[in-house]
Amino acid sequence: MIIAVASGKGGTGKTTVAVNLALSLPNVQVQLLDCDVEEPNAHIFLNPVNEVVKPAYTLVPTVNYDRCDYCGKCAAACEYNALVVVPSKKVMIFPELCHGCGLCALVCPQDAISEASREIGVIKTGKSGDGNIDIELVYGVLNIGEVMATPLIDQVKEELNPEKTVIIDVSPGTACPVIAAVQGSDYCVLVTEPTPFGLYDLRLAIGVLRVLKIPFGVVINKAGIGDRKVYEHCEKEGIPILLEIPYDRQIARCYSEGVPFVKEMPEWKEQFAGIIDKVLL
Ligand code: SF4
Ligand code: SF4
Repeated sequence: MIIAVASGKGGTGKTTVAVNLALSLPNVQVQLLDCDVEEPNAHIFLNPVNEVVKPAYTLVPTVNYDRCDYCGKCAAACEYNALVVVPSKKVMIFPELCHGCGLCALVCPQDAISEASREIGVIKTGKSGDGNIDIELVYGVLNIGEVMATPLIDQVKEELNPEKTVIIDVSPGTACPVIAAVQGSDYCVLVTEPTPFGLYDLRLAIGVLRVLKIPFGVVINKAGIGDRKVYEHCEKEGIPILLEIPYDRQIARCYSEGVPFVKEMPEWKEQFAGIIDKVLL
């Protein structure tokens, strides 16, 4: 089973939910994929050991000027303006804008374009757990200044082990990296906070999941602050509330110290494990 943990808004406690959920599932093998590759932080809570690090690449075009006749078809085809053919007979390539789709090579009538690898980050794999539960943590780390998160997310997901219960920590928002991370999931846990900002971004995330046809439920973090509008919205839309986590000093302290709070407050494990029961209903 693949469960994505996402949020329309940053700072809602998405990683807190993903990590504590992973640590609350006894008797199953758990794999946590941290696809928030621009700011991965599940490893801060899980302290993985025996890490294996491998580079991640994307493809960028290179031009063979012995063949190129500067027709401009590659630049016209590129949706991302990553290629420009300039009058001084040069094809300028902007690797940071390139999505590695390969279309320019396909449309080139002179077969003048080939593709070369460009490193965009690394993928790290390690083991974690608390003695009772073993977690395989896989996370991507995007190079500083790199804007192309999606190819790295795709490569983190290539490590997905369907034999395990897989939890995917998705980056916040509703942009391409979110789509890349949640696609293929059996269920999505949307983490929000009960504030007008939380509701606004939750509605955007709900819209994305409805388009993708991925079933979902809501975890309300920092319950007790704000207002009741998130609850009212969920009730009106028939969206299940899977768990409420209170705005609590001990939970906040655990977070600030990089400690999953189920380690200090094990009574919460049952409630996190209950999310799976509700997902399976
Ligand atoms: S499509 Fe091929 S031949 Fe035309 S400008 Fe681009 S690289 Fe050159
Ligand atoms: S590979 Fe795709 S995104 Fe990159 S330059 Fe070619 S057409 Fe544009």
